[in-house]
Amino acid sequence: MHVQEQVQLKNLNTLNLNAIASHYVQINQPSEVIDALAFAEQHHLNVLILSGGSNVLLPQHIQALVLHLNIQGIDVLAEDEDTITVKVGAGQVWHDFVLYSTQQQWFGLQNLALIPGLVGASPVQNIGAYGVEAGEFIEFVQVYDRELKQFDSISAQDCHFAYRHSIFKDHPNRYIIVSVTFKLLKKADLKLSYGDLKQAVGDDQTAENLQNQVIHIRQSKLPDPKEYPNVGSFFKNPILTAAEFGKIAQQFPNIPHYLQANSNVKVAAGWLIDQTGWKGKQLGAVGMFHKQALVLVNYADATLADVKNTYQTVQSDVKQKFNVQLEPEPVLYSEQGLIQAHHA
Ligand SMILES: Cc1cc2nc3c(=O)[nH]c(=O)nc-3n(C[C@H](O)[C@H](O)[C@H](O)COP(=O)(O)OP(=O)(O)OC[C@H]3O[C@@H](n4cnc5c(N)ncnc54)[C@H](O)[C@@H]3O)c2cc1C
Repeated sequence: MHVQEQVQLKNLNTLNLNAIASHYVQINQPSEVIDALAFAEQHHLNVLILSGGSNVLLPQHIQALVLHLNIQGIDVLAEDEDTITVKVGAGQVWHDFVLYSTQQQWFGLQNLALIPGLVGASPVQNIGAYGVEAGEFIEFVQVYDRELKQFDSISAQDCHFAYRHSIFKDHPNRYIIVSVTFKLLKKADLKLSYGDLKQAVGDDQTAENLQNQVIHIRQSKLPDPKEYPNVGSFFKNPILTAAEFGKIAQQFPNIPHYLQANSNVKVAAGWLIDQTGWKGKQLGAVGMFHKQALVLVNYADATLADVKNTYQTVQSDVKQKFNVQLEPEPVLYSEQGLIQAHHA
């Protein structure tokens, strides 16, 4: 284990925020987690877990030990006629694993192609896209439990997966995910119900084609962080009660919405932002992308303060027009390396 000091994380977060970590260590084996935690305790440092950096907002100076997860490995644990159970190291690149699973004719994750980040982060916010969530295919999550000071395995049921949510969000500093075990299908069961996916896939209803279409749609809609530094959808789609939705729909009958099982209604945050005139608009170095109003872009070496300035203005404009409070999706950190609540 090699702890480095004063490490620039600009290239390790997809929003390209300047962020210097006082201490940084790469974790290549689960056992190194224990050494790293001992180091942090000895030096009175908080611990910040960083994977692909595609869902974090980092301050300019971080006085903490950053654990950069790089645990590799894809191991088949079990197989029967219908399913395959495979354990994947937290440091594997998510998209590469999706491509690999399709190549192996393991089915289920194709709708989640091209989501940035690493496998270890996938359960944290239960990544989802095009009508599928990772939690549907997760069997277990292997963690180091900092409270019980031991390695443990958490079943999918106990992960409490929900929309962009899991137990790992409820207890942000407790678990370090070292690997994720997926149960994938051996016969394709394509999920084509979301948006125009069915049309895009057409007659060639194979998992390969579904994956390719998802990649194609994403590339045409979402900016590549290498060109336009961003963290994907910046706000969650708000979920309203039927009564709240009714009031808005009266005034804005075209509002895109998705009925939820419990009669609540999920509305498209991007549409709300678009209606306030923020699509393609900038405030200083930070703005909302011209092709997709839900994506916040760092156009010119912005700091976290610039990012906050823009997103809080967007929040307040949406609140004023629709009386809806938008909640940011990325995880916000303090200078002490702790997760912070977003303020409206
Ligand atoms: C262009 C773009 C498109 C995106 N599209 C989508 C999308 O369609 N759907 C979607 O759900 N998300 C999307 N995202 C968001 C992001 O890719 C996901 O949230 C992804 O899972 C984050 O992975 P990461 O490895 O970058 O995590 P990081 O950003 O490094 O970490 C995110 C959070 O998870 C915690 N964490 C990470 N790894 C671990 C671990 N091993 N153990 C414990 N905690 C951990 C971190 O501490 C942090 O709080 C998109 C982002 C971008 C930039």
